[in-house]
Amino acid sequence: MSRKKFKKYTSGPRNLVIMAALLAASLLLLTKLTDLSQAIEKITFSTFLDKVQADEVKEVKISGAGIAGELKNGQQFETVAGGYEKTWDLLREHKVVFEVEPANGKMGYLWYAFLLLFPLIAFAGAWFAMRQGKGGTSGGSGGIFSMGKSRAKVFMPSTIKENFESVAGANEAKEELKDVVDYLRNPKKYTRLGATVSRGVLLVGEPGNGKTLLARAVAGEANCPFYSISGSDFIEVFVGVGASRVRDLFAEARKTAPSIIFIDEIDAVGRHRGSGMGGGNDEREQTLNQLLSEMDGFETHKDPVIVIAATNRVDVLDRALLRPGRFDRTVTVPYPDLKSRELILAVHLKKIKLGDDIDAVKIARGTPGFSGADLANLVNEAAINASKKEQDFTTMIDFEDARDKVMLGKESKSMSLTEEDRRITAYHEAGHALVSLMLPKELDPLHKVTIVPRGSALGVTHSLPEREKYNTNKVEMLAKIVMSLGGRVAEELVFNEVSTGAYSDFVNATRIARRMVCHYGMSDDVGLVIYEQDHGKYQYSEKMAEKIDSAVQGIIDSCHQRSRELLSENRSKLDALAAALLDKETLYASEIYEILGIEPRQDLRLVK
Ligand code: ADP
Ligand code: ZN
Repeated sequence: MSRKKFKKYTSGPRNLVIMAALLAASLLLLTKLTDLSQAIEKITFSTFLDKVQADEVKEVKISGAGIAGELKNGQQFETVAGGYEKTWDLLREHKVVFEVEPANGKMGYLWYAFLLLFPLIAFAGAWFAMRQGKGGTSGGSGGIFSMGKSRAKVFMPSTIKENFESVAGANEAKEELKDVVDYLRNPKKYTRLGATVSRGVLLVGEPGNGKTLLARAVAGEANCPFYSISGSDFIEVFVGVGASRVRDLFAEARKTAPSIIFIDEIDAVGRHRGSGMGGGNDEREQTLNQLLSEMDGFETHKDPVIVIAATNRVDVLDRALLRPGRFDRTVTVPYPDLKSRELILAVHLKKIKLGDDIDAVKIARGTPGFSGADLANLVNEAAINASKKEQDFTTMIDFEDARDKVMLGKESKSMSLTEEDRRITAYHEAGHALVSLMLPKELDPLHKVTIVPRGSALGVTHSLPEREKYNTNKVEMLAKIVMSLGGRVAEELVFNEVSTGAYSDFVNATRIARRMVCHYGMSDDVGLVIYEQDHGKYQYSEKMAEKIDSAVQGIIDSCHQRSRELLSENRSKLDALAAALLDKETLYASEIYEILGIEPRQDLRLVK
């Protein structure tokens, strides 16, 4: 973040900044000149095609109609192709590494002149940036020379190999993204009836769980260009550059619509505004504002540009990003459960030579808490182990060793679970779930229970609200507290010590209890006077505060007692549920009813 501080320098260090800029510029110039001394050969386009065909080309960079690259013998070359589209296919066929930049009318020979002027320009740039830093509001200058060019990587449909089949598991995410694909393929189908379809999709999940993969798969399925950029690429030293990159990016994407813009790590630009030190004229805020206005500016009758953004920090995002018409659709991309791990492994195991003893189910069982990327990594490490030993194929032992290595790597990132963690989590979630099943009249129906970690939570028990509730009564509130405490109670019953995993449950339980006492007059001791409102507090005496606290405590204690009774009376059910969770990791309500032999509750889905 040292970059952001740049514009905050006051006159003291200013000279220093200028000197640093000049020094950097001269260094850059020097390296550029040495580059040039390696004589770039100008070849005709037909020669270029011949050389590709003869597999003599190592790598190329395509920029508009210009192609620059390197032969396998080290010779650099340049050529001009008049937008001959088959080039890309040919390059792929001959496995030439290539990179495409959006056509931006690169200056060609002017480049040389530019190099000579570079120090001057850098100087002007530094000065400009400082002017901006002094509180000038003229941001969004269109960038300094070519600095505003979007920086995005562009992938044309013919180069995108991913589709939904490349993404194993993740069925819920794929299901949600199918609409987006259908819309991109056939926008008129929707606009015809006046439907507004979301233009922004937020993929939320921990790193390595396939967000980028999913976004590329959407592009592959919809057969449309894919512009990829990371949120941090927008943020630069020079104020206004980020905003102008956003503008360029959207302009490019609109030209090739229907198309997809993928912004990885959107939190780098999308953080809640006003949280930085820079005040209202922060570089990041300008970039964010530009992004918001580009998204608002989508014209519904034109071919769509869909923006897919990825993050694992929705909590820090500026709420404005999530408003209708912007990222109004959120798709969670969770850690894979057992079945999904098996499917992901299948995808990656295809790529290596396997011995007869390989058992994908067993590997999946042994890798709880692994992300898709961890699994891909595991397979690769196993193949490396086998290669080191000069085996002809990988065996389970190679996987065993590889797993230890990947686990160790994960250890530092603290998301690998010990067997004990899993057992505790399974009982904890089973406790919540069982309470909810035992109090069907008071609580919303169970939806699913999982011990697949998400974010900082090790497991989750989801209920489906049965109806919009405007009114809730004392009995229901008490039941909610009993359910909140069910996780901890299950731990108490089964293990000798209790974990710290119940913190948010207590917060929840206490909040409900306090509301009962202070808002709704549900405590006889405290009575019917309201002692708090959602906004602002009422004053009350020390003595009353004590009364309130003890009333809250009383409610929690009796609910705790109730929870203990419920769960110890049903200990065998608790054990069965926990065992099933350890085995399957995620259980839907229907499966739970079956395991426990409980009469299913009526299902409220509109369509089966
Ligand atoms: P993210 O963008 O969420 O950090 P990526 O999409 O970059 O994750 O995933 C990294 C790699 O992990 C992918 O390239 C792929 O090899 C592997 N991977 C992740 N999820 C899956 C999946 N569901 N199926 C197959 N491979 C996956
Ligand atoms: Zn809990």
